[in-house]
Amino acid sequence: MEVTLKNLTKKFPGRDKKDRSEVIAVSDLNYTIPDGKLIGLLGPSGCGKSTVLNLISGLLKPTEGRIFFGDDDVTELPPENRGIGLVFQNYALYPHLTVRQNIMFPLENLKGKDKLTKGEMREKADETAKLVQIDGLMDRKPRELSGGQQQRVAIARALVKRPGVLLLDEPLSNLDARLRLRTREEIRRIQSETKITTIFVTHDQEEAMSISDRIIVMKDGVVQQTGEPQDVYDSPDNLFVAKFLGTPPINIFTGHIRDNTLYIGGDAVLRVGEMPDREVIVGIRPEGFVLNERGALTCMLNGVEVMGRDISVVSVNDASQDPTVRSIIGAENEMSDAAMHKPRGSTVCFDLIPRKVFLFDHRTQERIVCKLQQITAK
Ligand code: ADP
Ligand code: MG
Repeated sequence: MEVTLKNLTKKFPGRDKKDRSEVIAVSDLNYTIPDGKLIGLLGPSGCGKSTVLNLISGLLKPTEGRIFFGDDDVTELPPENRGIGLVFQNYALYPHLTVRQNIMFPLENLKGKDKLTKGEMREKADETAKLVQIDGLMDRKPRELSGGQQQRVAIARALVKRPGVLLLDEPLSNLDARLRLRTREEIRRIQSETKITTIFVTHDQEEAMSISDRIIVMKDGVVQQTGEPQDVYDSPDNLFVAKFLGTPPINIFTGHIRDNTLYIGGDAVLRVGEMPDREVIVGIRPEGFVLNERGALTCMLNGVEVMGRDISVVSVNDASQDPTVRSIIGAENEMSDAAMHKPRGSTVCFDLIPRKVFLFDHRTQERIVCKLQQITAK
């Protein structure tokens, strides 16, 4: 099912006693979710993710805008007539019912021609339980299950009516790190097998990046950027998106352009295409640094952290907006071996990989798209 959001806006009345101005939870959202895809709706807490999901489900009515499922305008339809499945962070299972009864529950209320016999309900519940791999647990009560198993029951319950759209609101937040990883792979598998159009809400960029076909990045109710995860990572439209995606996060410097050269502090680090002299914000991904004794950017070594396959060189630079600069270097690299044996406080120099460096306007924080090149490649 294709889902189209048109000029979607949701305002809430202000709750603050001193400031009664309304909260714009979602502002003029336009997006078409393609049929059969898994979309990650991503952004910090309070940016409007749950509001978007609740608008799609029909639990909330938009202040302005329309929602279409396929060609049908569903804006006025109540949730139960939209053919959606919902899963929340807290599994909200019925504690006194068995797993089977919990999964069958949405089928009990079907009326008229949709009404099922007990046998048919059982069959559908068993089939769905198999899909999420909890078919061995059907006679247990929720309290006899682990958190991961409970969340699978909640997913089975959302899927049992074969919804056209599956909506997941931070479904992994209550699970420990290992289970979170396993369950997210499960969700990806289930989605691939069923091809149900799925919207997955999370504040965790890594989670969204790893399972989504496309992501929507939001901030303060406003969409910042949409696209395939890797494309958004490789080409962020603004400073917020650049900072929100990636671990360790992107390194931010104040810099300036002079004579078509990018400077960080006094160091000429890259050549830029034709551009007037100006101040800029420079973002450098951790993997954009290459150790080189005569490299363009000079920092002061703070320490080296070994992380298995890679090492992380932590240094300081006066032009950095964060206390430290974090670069990731392959541990196989002979230069990294040298860096590991350098004393703290000595200088480390880096060349920069141009496609890992982004420039932003220091006022609007929008990306300045330009061609960057290594200085040595003259
Ligand atoms: P997220 O899910 O991204 O954390 P929400 O969609 O829950 O964010 O909230 C977006 C904004 O709308 C927040 O500022 C929140 O306080 C506000 N908000 C959400 N629901 C209500 C409500 N029922 N009444 C008033 N304000 C609300
Ligand atoms: Mg939320």
